[in-house]
Amino acid sequence: MSTPIHIIGAGLAGSEAAWQAAEAGAQVVLHEMRPQKLTEAHLTGGFAELVCSNSFRSDDHEHNAVGLLHEEMRRCGSLIMRIADAHKLPAGGALAVDRVGFSNAVTAAVRAHPNIVVELGEITGLPPEDWTSVVIATGPLTSRPLAEAIQSLTGEAELAFFDAIAPIVHGESIDMDIAWKQSRYDKAGPGGTGADYLNCPMDEAQYNRFVDALLTGEKHVFHQWENVPYFDGCLPVEVMAERGRDTLRWGPLKPVGLTNPRQPDKKPYAIVQLRQDNALGTLWNMVGFQTKLKYGRQAEIFRLIPGLENAQFARLGGLHHNTFLNSPRVLDRQLRLKAQPRLRFAGQITGVEGYVESAAIGLIAGRMAAAEVRGESVEPPGPTTALGALIDHITGGHIAAEGEPGPRSFQPMNINFGLLPPVTVTKPEGSGRWRGPDKSMAKRKAMSDRALADIAGWA
Ligand SMILES: Cc1cc2nc3c(=O)[nH]c(=O)nc-3n(C[C@H](O)[C@H](O)[C@H](O)COP(=O)(O)OP(=O)(O)OC[C@H]3O[C@@H](n4cnc5c(N)ncnc54)[C@H](O)[C@@H]3O)c2cc1C
Repeated sequence: MSTPIHIIGAGLAGSEAAWQAAEAGAQVVLHEMRPQKLTEAHLTGGFAELVCSNSFRSDDHEHNAVGLLHEEMRRCGSLIMRIADAHKLPAGGALAVDRVGFSNAVTAAVRAHPNIVVELGEITGLPPEDWTSVVIATGPLTSRPLAEAIQSLTGEAELAFFDAIAPIVHGESIDMDIAWKQSRYDKAGPGGTGADYLNCPMDEAQYNRFVDALLTGEKHVFHQWENVPYFDGCLPVEVMAERGRDTLRWGPLKPVGLTNPRQPDKKPYAIVQLRQDNALGTLWNMVGFQTKLKYGRQAEIFRLIPGLENAQFARLGGLHHNTFLNSPRVLDRQLRLKAQPRLRFAGQITGVEGYVESAAIGLIAGRMAAAEVRGESVEPPGPTTALGALIDHITGGHIAAEGEPGPRSFQPMNINFGLLPPVTVTKPEGSGRWRGPDKSMAKRKAMSDRALADIAGWA
């Protein structure tokens, strides 16, 4: 018999990984602690339980990045997508599912697969030495004993229990007639040029209006079990505003070491900085803007910042209980822990965000593990695909921040078009000017067409 693959966690990622590995002919042992031990958010013993919303978000594969991810996964034989499609509910352009029917059907399909054995019970420490191929897919609520065992391998700083997410803006939506590029005191730093940040200046009236909006903005209320702590030097932006009108101006918005080239003689009252977030240069992270403001209000308030009036957000900010690795540092391109390569990771614990993204990484990890036990290897999908862009984000695309507050800068991310290499689109001759969102829709469609052509070979 071939070496079995032990998969820990039968959530979105673990169920998909087990299915993919088993379909590729591998023998799989799937370990799940529920219903014997529940997490703070799961209510049942069913596999792939959706702990909150029942939506897989937009299903528009031509113009929406998560819709594209759905389509790529369908073309790769995804169990999660097949069953989601079979249990969908009316939800306009979104793919929403009947959560009970969905989870029951995933459980039944996985249990019925001849190559999968299910073992119920919590894994409370590092997997035994004789498990030579392991996929850890225990999610954002990984049980504490296992999380601590993982931390013993990665080091304390490389496995976080909370995310502290600052919003990320699509670069092309930033008004470069207002913002300018410059690093504080023109410092080049490691790998920098001295002009690595985008700077948005505020005068006194604009700053006061912004602080007022932060103070009155509606905040997310934490569940008691979340017990979310505030990190030293990494307070939510609205909490800093509550501590004093000038706190932000003396903190992340300090207007020192920077000169607006358009008004070199006028000192801005405050400056918001955005740091390049991915190697492609398409995404920009708002420095120091981790927040627990409600999503709806965030976009409204952050568009008060000069230069960000029309900002499109690839990700909004947040603070959650979320166990995840500093993957760019600790995982290799095969999703294996560098410190112990028999351990592969999948799902939200790798630093993706969302049901679909978690299942997507499960799909890739399952295939990689199956190839490895056969003595072969599967390369990740190409960077022009949504699946490949996610792998790039967690294993290298993100640019780490140097010398910023907070424990580290890698934070979980949903799929979005900013993670894919840009395309240039030209209007067909004689068809007049682009109107409204036409150009951006054409770009998305071109990126989608390219992705679906490129995933075919990998699928
Ligand atoms: C409260 C909350 C709400 C969320 N809401 C949404 C949402 O609305 N939409 C969205 O897209 N995403 C949401 N997410 C994010 C994410 O998409 C989900 O958490 C998703 O389920 C992650 O998939 P996963 O497979 O990585 O983990 P999970 O689906 O959580 O699966 C992990 C599995 O591992 C098991 N497990 C954990 N530890 C052990 C152990 N030691 N031994 C054995 N088994 C173990 C768990 O019981 C679980 O079944 C939410 C996350 C949280 C925490």
